[in-house]
Amino acid sequence: MSEKHYKSELIGLFGSPVDENPTVITMEAGFKALGLNYRYCTMEVKPENLGTAVAALKALGFKGTNLTIPHKVAVIPHLDHLSEGAKLIGAVNTIYIKDGETHGENTDGKGFIIALKENGVSIEGKRITILGAGGAARAVAVELALEKAAHITIINVNKERGSTLSGLIREKTGVSSDYISWDHTCAIPPDTSILVQATSVGLFPDPNCPDIAYDTVRPPMVACDVVPNPPETLFIRKAKENGCKTLTGLPMLVNQAGIGFRLWTGREAPVDVMMEATLNEFSKS
Ligand code: NDP
Repeated sequence: MSEKHYKSELIGLFGSPVDENPTVITMEAGFKALGLNYRYCTMEVKPENLGTAVAALKALGFKGTNLTIPHKVAVIPHLDHLSEGAKLIGAVNTIYIKDGETHGENTDGKGFIIALKENGVSIEGKRITILGAGGAARAVAVELALEKAAHITIINVNKERGSTLSGLIREKTGVSSDYISWDHTCAIPPDTSILVQATSVGLFPDPNCPDIAYDTVRPPMVACDVVPNPPETLFIRKAKENGCKTLTGLPMLVNQAGIGFRLWTGREAPVDVMMEATLNEFSKS
């Protein structure tokens, strides 16, 4: 009997543009560490081809795929099943194939929750302020509400997006929420326990930080950034200088990847190895 096995298990990443997305480094480090014959394939998929690409996952025997800009919302009508979380968030970043059917999941907010808990930050009963109302902010806000936060304040420049997210939290999760307009240097509500920077400000190569009154970011507030690259943003540096406990976007990124890893392989993700590989890659930026 031959002991040779040549067929790899396949995972995709669909996006456009996608060439600068480094998730392949994180994932392949995990596959290698566990000796798994899996390949993570970064693929340029144009919006008009998304339905065909999702159908191809089944035809080609893929285990699943990640989705990035601009497919996270548009993919939903093409899926057989949608998790409760993804339904609430209204976006999917991970598909896994089970019994020949596609399941949509959103792991972004869940990765953030794991990162918070691993750092000893409890959520239940806490008042939380989120800067931003885009995809990452929605995922984080919904998961924080499902973890029984007491109140969630959304601060966002675009009024419609900000108030829509605040309304979604109130109506779909039952957690109280308000929206603060962001047309000035914004003060953070003083009763905030956890502050989440969920805008794209500060993402490499942008060296800036959001326009907030940093003298209102004070202990015992925990200041978190979703931006994973650079690993330490200016927002995080300023919060640290003020004496706050901080959490960068890197553990969120690696933990959300770890959830996909488990859904596709059935194995616990070697998160430490994946973290080191990702950090190493970002240090080349
Ligand atoms: P979106 O484009 O969906 O949302 C961007 C958000 O940033 C919007 O709320 C937008 O406000 C706000 N924003 C942009 N520029 C400014 C500014 N100058 N001042 C104030 N607000 C601003 O992006 P995503 O939510 O998908 O991504 C946001 C960040 O999260 C990115 O840096 C991404 O890398 C990161 N991310 C990290 C993940 C992780 O695992 N660590 C996972 C997913 C994303 P407005 O609505 O007013 O336009």
